[in-house]
Amino acid sequence: MSDFDVIIVGGGLAGSALAIGLAQAGSRVALVEAFEPKAQSRPSFDDRTLVVNAASLNILSNLGILDDRLTTCALKRIEISRAGAPGHLSLRAEEHGCERFGAVIVARELGAAMLRRLEALGTIESLCPERLAAIDADDEHIEVELESGKRLRGQLLVGSDGTNSTVRRLAGIDSTRHDYGQSAMIFNVHCPGRQADTAWERFTPVGPLALLPQPDERLGVVWIDRNERIESALALDDEALLERLESRSGRAAGGFVSPGKRVSYPLALTRTPCPLGRRVVLVGNAANTIHPVSAQGFNLGLRDVAALVDHAGASDDPGHDDVLSAWLADRQSDQAATVRYTDTLARAFSNPSSIMRLGTGLGLFAHAAVPAMSGRLVRAAMGFREPVSSLAAEVRR
Ligand SMILES: Cc1cc2nc3c(=O)[nH]c(=O)nc-3n(C[C@H](O)[C@H](O)[C@H](O)COP(=O)(O)OP(=O)(O)OC[C@H]3O[C@@H](n4cnc5c(N)ncnc54)[C@H](O)[C@@H]3O)c2cc1C
Repeated sequence: MSDFDVIIVGGGLAGSALAIGLAQAGSRVALVEAFEPKAQSRPSFDDRTLVVNAASLNILSNLGILDDRLTTCALKRIEISRAGAPGHLSLRAEEHGCERFGAVIVARELGAAMLRRLEALGTIESLCPERLAAIDADDEHIEVELESGKRLRGQLLVGSDGTNSTVRRLAGIDSTRHDYGQSAMIFNVHCPGRQADTAWERFTPVGPLALLPQPDERLGVVWIDRNERIESALALDDEALLERLESRSGRAAGGFVSPGKRVSYPLALTRTPCPLGRRVVLVGNAANTIHPVSAQGFNLGLRDVAALVDHAGASDDPGHDDVLSAWLADRQSDQAATVRYTDTLARAFSNPSSIMRLGTGLGLFAHAAVPAMSGRLVRAAMGFREPVSSLAAEVRR
């Protein structure tokens, strides 16, 4: 039996970041992951284009993940428009006193950077490929049995094992699920002459469309619609797809060529109001899997992770009830607010009649006319929600 302070099950973006943070804080960490440790072969390190907000960039930087080999596109402008309405919200980082709102990073490349950092630290026990089979907690410890028969003992078990979390099931933690009946199709497209620092989001009655900057004049497309319409969009030939893209983007954008491979994801909300069990905590998608409409899922998970590094990394007994309760007290309102905001937006797209209320209902377009409100919106969207973790607060070097 091997002994650890913290056993992490799930080495996706949330679990890997947590392993790095706790190892930096001096904890003895085991990281259990079902897939081979190559970024190319892990489903969670795929082609999706992630908008990583400013607070998350601080966290990634302080974890030593933003190395020279990682390509990031700084996000300095965000253009938001709505089909069939004149409203247009234009956000510029410089007008909000910051150099950038965040950055766009491809998940595969971020995963590869995390693997490099894990290897460089060299202190994390990596069990991979391995799967969780059983857990057993008492007042002092939690024991974990893996499918290979290997047994580990720790003070805290973290479930960062994604939407269908085995840790959540084995710990008997309640969650709810709502299927949106929508899917996200992603692909990238070449767009000569596009500004590399601008993201576009367009709300249409059938779903949102985001165009996110990537290197080499490419854009990452996130195209959300009802399942059956995504099915037919996946089957379009390239020419028809590009024509549909131009029309959906309101023809404000255009000149798209050479679309890349298309992949789709069914969209559902999994919500865990109390992501704690006996010596167990859930983070990332294992706790809350949210709709990508507001680009918040990974950012929310990373804030969970950073707060857990503050609480568990500083404690002699990271799995103690008091430590986990203090972590939850810090995280609960951010989790609830982020889920609520994203769910409200997502459901509006499931019900076309309510989409017309979006502008006033969420105050999105009103913010353009009221800079003070817009400033608050922008700061929250940049991930600085109280209490701000020490990893998010500022870049330390
Ligand atoms: C189309 C799309 C676009 C998105 N865009 C954004 C964005 O712009 N910004 C943003 O912040 N978020 C975005 N998200 C959300 C973001 O991708 C996720 O929130 C994030 O990737 C979740 O990471 P995770 O590590 O929590 O979970 P996962 O990526 O699911 O990782 C879970 C890991 O656990 C492992 N595992 C599972 N079960 C076991 C087991 N029993 N034993 C061992 N290991 C196990 C899996 O192999 C996997 O590696 C987007 C999502 C989608 C679908």
